[in-house]
Amino acid sequence: METHSLDTTRLSSSQLADRFTELKPALSRREARLEAERCLYCFDAPCITACPTSIDVPTFIRKIATDNVTGAAVTILEANLLGASCSRVCPVEELCEGACVLGADHKPIEIGRLQRYATDHLLEKGVMPFTPRSATGRRVAVVGTGPAGLSCAGELAKLGHEVVVFERRELPGGLSTYGIVVMREPIRVSLEEVAFVQRLGVEVRTGVEVGRDVQAGALVDEFDAVFIAAGLGRVPALAIPGEELVGVTEALDFIAATKLAEKEGLERLNDLPLGRHVAVIGAGNTAIDAATIARRLGAERVTIVYRRSEAEMPAYDFEIAFIKQEGVEFRLQLQPLEILGEGGRVTGLRCARVTLGAPDADGRRAPIMVPGDDVIVPCDQVITAIGQEKPAGLAAAFGLATTRGYLDVDADGRTAHPKVFAGGDCVRATGQAMTVTAVEDGKVAARAIHAQLTATVAVAAGGSA
Ligand SMILES: Cc1cc2nc3c(=O)[nH]c(=O)nc-3n(C[C@H](O)[C@H](O)[C@H](O)COP(=O)(O)OP(=O)(O)OC[C@H]3O[C@@H](n4cnc5c(N)ncnc54)[C@H](O)[C@@H]3O)c2cc1C
Ligand code: SF4
Repeated sequence: METHSLDTTRLSSSQLADRFTELKPALSRREARLEAERCLYCFDAPCITACPTSIDVPTFIRKIATDNVTGAAVTILEANLLGASCSRVCPVEELCEGACVLGADHKPIEIGRLQRYATDHLLEKGVMPFTPRSATGRRVAVVGTGPAGLSCAGELAKLGHEVVVFERRELPGGLSTYGIVVMREPIRVSLEEVAFVQRLGVEVRTGVEVGRDVQAGALVDEFDAVFIAAGLGRVPALAIPGEELVGVTEALDFIAATKLAEKEGLERLNDLPLGRHVAVIGAGNTAIDAATIARRLGAERVTIVYRRSEAEMPAYDFEIAFIKQEGVEFRLQLQPLEILGEGGRVTGLRCARVTLGAPDADGRRAPIMVPGDDVIVPCDQVITAIGQEKPAGLAAAFGLATTRGYLDVDADGRTAHPKVFAGGDCVRATGQAMTVTAVEDGKVAARAIHAQLTATVAVAAGGSA
């Protein structure tokens, strides 16, 4: 990321600590028991169905109520090996807590915070509740250490397979490590979960990019199966004039720098490139997080510039409400045309006004530019957050089919290649990309890979008998 520190106030260590810690505090033992005792332990509980990983929520909550916290964590991890991450980042209002029957008349049970209480307890104690089955002699390569890759790797290791995970970045954990804002998930939690999966016997090789340092063909030859969980890539270029100016920042780099600061010292946040007036282009997860960070670092004005209306924003309603509270402004139905600059630095964003037409392929109303009615949004920094690049390189390297750039898979994560499976963001052509759905993809694919590998073993054994 290019650096230019504009004239902003430096924040003290305590201000930084206040602004860049988890938003929701941990529950104390007493609070957790009181909350757990509110649960009705429904038969056919809707929260289980609403959880993409089908965690047996009433059972783990009952265990917390009886002070069996390790047992509660085991119930969670049996369904979702990344329960500590999910407890923090799941949009629970839309998932388990949204389905809680108590929500109709009272406050729903705080399932996410109870899940965090249990999983944090287990990770802090360093307990390993699973004993992997005896070795099958089968080897699986996983591409990417994000939630999908780790989930698949951990589940396969539990079943006795040898798993090697390749990760191109220096640190493992995918977007849990580099992407999700520290106020929701500290980097520590992501790295502890990686260590947990490693303790199941999974080998993690960081700094190794598949397609560059290791060839796709070599993985297919050397391993019995491959699971691609490479996520998506960088924010694509806007392809408008002015992108080369100092003050144009890619949102994922900006967010990653704040995640790493937690590891390297929060004071480093004062060195991040930050303008006084920041325009963030986009209205999804990444835009929301980048805008929140810019405000918390001290930008005087942060404006989300989006080409559709609030109803079409990919971010959840509660996230939009949250950033409004943080003081972020919205300029809607504006299409950026040019980043303006003076002396090589950003001075503004020229946009066309937009009206909205009929719904397009993804069901959102299509923006139609109004010619000759341009608007200038004054700013000295532009943060781009208009989605992520698709996994075109890996699709080509493995010879896989894609739909709108996402890898094609069946319900079990199988690609058309008999040895290659895929899951997580790189296959999510429709629907909201979430950590918990990536974890579920990894789990489902692990079961399919296991079934395929053990069927091959059975056929081979039958053939030689
Ligand atoms: C800014 C941001 C905020 C988000 N906030 C939330 C949230 O609050 N709640 C929520 O549920 N979801 C959130 N998400 C979405 C969530 O993070 C993703 O859905 C999830 O991480 C997807 O997991 P994954 O394993 O598919 O991919 P990723 O987490 O992206 O991991 C993929 C990994 O593969 C590696 N990789 C890629 N190519 C290669 C290669 N060729 N060789 C080796 N390694 C490779 C990458 O470096 C990366 O580590 C957010 C996403 C972003 C961008
Ligand atoms: S994993 Fe997420 S959706 Fe499932 S029970 Fe836990 S917090 Fe709720």
